[in-house]
Amino acid sequence: MSYEAEKNIAIQAVQAAAQLCAQVRREIVPAAIQKKDKSPVTIADFGSQALICRALAAAFPQDPVVGEEDAAELRTPERTKQLAQVSHYVQAIVPDATAEQVTHWIDHGNGQVGSRYWTLDPIDGTKGFLRGDQYAIALALIEAGEIKVGVLACPALSLQTGQIGLLGVAVRGEGATLAPLSNGIAQPMQVVSPEQAENLRFVESVESGHGDQSRQAAVAQAAGITQASLRMDSQAKYMAVAAGEAALYLRLPSPKTPDYREKIWDHAAGVILVEEAGGRVTDIAGKPLDFSAGAKLVNNQGVVVSNGTLHASVLAALSSHP
Ligand code: AMP
Ligand code: MG
Repeated sequence: MSYEAEKNIAIQAVQAAAQLCAQVRREIVPAAIQKKDKSPVTIADFGSQALICRALAAAFPQDPVVGEEDAAELRTPERTKQLAQVSHYVQAIVPDATAEQVTHWIDHGNGQVGSRYWTLDPIDGTKGFLRGDQYAIALALIEAGEIKVGVLACPALSLQTGQIGLLGVAVRGEGATLAPLSNGIAQPMQVVSPEQAENLRFVESVESGHGDQSRQAAVAQAAGITQASLRMDSQAKYMAVAAGEAALYLRLPSPKTPDYREKIWDHAAGVILVEEAGGRVTDIAGKPLDFSAGAKLVNNQGVVVSNGTLHASVLAALSSHP
């Protein structure tokens, strides 16, 4: 089965969404709206989800989309101004879009996990987006629990390419590629080989509450990584591993939230990029991530992402550094 159509629609949609996010960040200081779970959302998160869901609904009307956001809050009278702002930025790409359509498209992203579905993080790393740091737009297609296509836009990332704004794309069995975000030439991505010692660094979240930074440092060191970590928001961390600029990404459960379960949209696109670039992704017990169980990875705890060759020693180091 070919995923050419899925890949191309996903790329176009993610590029349009990235354009919207970048425009919002250029033109206004995006204010955080607090969600029920206390995490922040901005008008760019909503605009991005609207654009991507619109494209998916048109091309693949049968496919559910499991996205991070919903439009319930935006439909309330207190949020009229924000809904107008979201619509304004969507109209830069879809000129005749109405506010009613925008909320409808956003809510198309409230689908359920099934035998075939998309998962979407319209802005991953919203805290990074607000701070002026890294963020990503992450979209993946899952069939029978297996990620088939992943598209990851990192509008503020340059790595060693020299260009700001990168797009990672992977299709199962076809490898992973890296390109400038605005239509450049795609180059194959490959994880770092053990000989490239200068890139044997590890990446982790900026937010200390999203991991266990002291244990992450101890485990990385035990696995032979001597450099200090590179801290980045969002799935840009997966891109760094897939592109060979880091050997390891550790996301160990925070001691403050030991029962936290990861969300599928925070990982799916990144996972296939790393796997197709030759790396490996498991939870802290060495199990593959289970994308068939719902919006949360209820069968997994923590995430270990590596270039593959390091994986066994990292898992071993985890048991000796509880
Ligand atoms: P990052 O940019 O890597 O720090 O990850 C951002 C994501 O962390 C957000 O999209 C949240 O879904 C997720 N998150 C929120 N709380 C936690 C937590 N306690 N542990 C791990 N991840 C979390
Ligand atoms: Mg996220």
